[in-house]
Amino acid sequence: MFSDWYSALRRLALIFSALFATGWLLGAPATVTLAGVLIYLLYHLRQLRKLYNWLKHNEVSEPTTPPEGRGIWGYVFDAMYLLQRREHEAIADLRGIINKAQESTAVLEMAVIMINGKGGLVWWNPAANRLLGFQSPKDQNQPVINLIREPQFIEYFNRGLYKSPLKLNSPINSSLMLEFQITSFGEGERLMLVRDISQLHKLEMMRKDFVGNVSHELRTPITVITGYLETMLDDKDNLPKRWVRPIEQMSQQSHRMENIIRDLLTLSQLETRSASKQQSDIKLASLLRDIKRDAEQVFTDKKQQFHLACEDSTQIRGNMNELYSAISNLVLNAAKYTQPEGEIRLTVQHTTDGGLDVIISDNGPGIAAQHIPRLTERFYRVDESRSTDTGGTGLGLAIVKHVLARHDARLNIKSEVGKGSDFICHFPPERISRAAID
Ligand code: ADP
Repeated sequence: MFSDWYSALRRLALIFSALFATGWLLGAPATVTLAGVLIYLLYHLRQLRKLYNWLKHNEVSEPTTPPEGRGIWGYVFDAMYLLQRREHEAIADLRGIINKAQESTAVLEMAVIMINGKGGLVWWNPAANRLLGFQSPKDQNQPVINLIREPQFIEYFNRGLYKSPLKLNSPINSSLMLEFQITSFGEGERLMLVRDISQLHKLEMMRKDFVGNVSHELRTPITVITGYLETMLDDKDNLPKRWVRPIEQMSQQSHRMENIIRDLLTLSQLETRSASKQQSDIKLASLLRDIKRDAEQVFTDKKQQFHLACEDSTQIRGNMNELYSAISNLVLNAAKYTQPEGEIRLTVQHTTDGGLDVIISDNGPGIAAQHIPRLTERFYRVDESRSTDTGGTGLGLAIVKHVLARHDARLNIKSEVGKGSDFICHFPPERISRAAID
């Protein structure tokens, strides 16, 4: 490039020196030089025109071979041709990638929808037409909440926090159960994935119905068996001696079965009933006082110390019975697994996010770290013998987790073997309020 440039300059200097010399010999150096400058200018204007025409032509079609040019112009034409070719190839590559992406999303069973910062549809695949009734290209730029008008969807879409997916019937076919998952990206843009989970939903409903029905059907026979065994034990003295022990054991086991059935029914009701029913602002201090009083009466012989710290004005919006059941499950567990004369604390703390922690702590045996993530699974027990000795069903923490989820709350467990455990129920700010104290 530099050599082209310097030789062009050299040639220019040579031509003008020659022109000036000729002009001087002819006695009109200025006129001859001016004529030379004009010819030089015309030459460059011609090259520029060639370049202009060539670029104009390339705007509408693939880059054609550049015009012939000499010296510096030859270099400019070739370099521009090279740049144009590279750009053209890059565009072709990009187009190929976009086509491939569109082809692959077109055959997807799942709907893929791109939404702009204003909530309007930018692009979607054919599955979105099938599952949600979108019409291409008519719905281009239409706000998504005008096309899916279900209040639950509008609330989910506007909330902006998409930690968990939303399950909803299809707006065009109520027999389809869909799962919506939104991810935010760029400047307020969103990618929405929608999949048909009708089959899965049907199986899940069958499982829930089955557990609910079985528990319901078993309740009466077990109650009858427990009742007869208790009646027999009431008249222990008239029983043949060798029958007393087996009947005592049968009674103990039938009580356990009753508890399991009760917990399974509770879980099944929590899973099938809508969470919004019977919600009120509950005075937390009074609820915790009731739970503490009831728990103190269960394990009187253990002589444990119960402590409660909660401001009187704090209120939680929720279902009284469900919250009682969840927190009392945690307090009863603490009392159950903690040694006699141990300490159980119920503490309420406001958190930095404006929410609230209800902490149930004990100085009992603690739980090894590897068990903690699995504690809320149904029938998971750290120590089978410890749990069954104490009449546990293995369903208590599963119930707690369900109740908390229905209150937009979550359970955190911190524990150290030999030191004790903290079960922390974290409620979000929207659930918390202050009552006027009279
Ligand atoms: P269970 O009816 O067996 O108590 P849960 O679901 O309530 O079932 O608890 C699951 C397991 O977690 C229990 O079996 C027990 O091993 C352990 N656990 C729960 N709470 C405590 C606690 N406060 N201290 C020690 N272990 C606990």
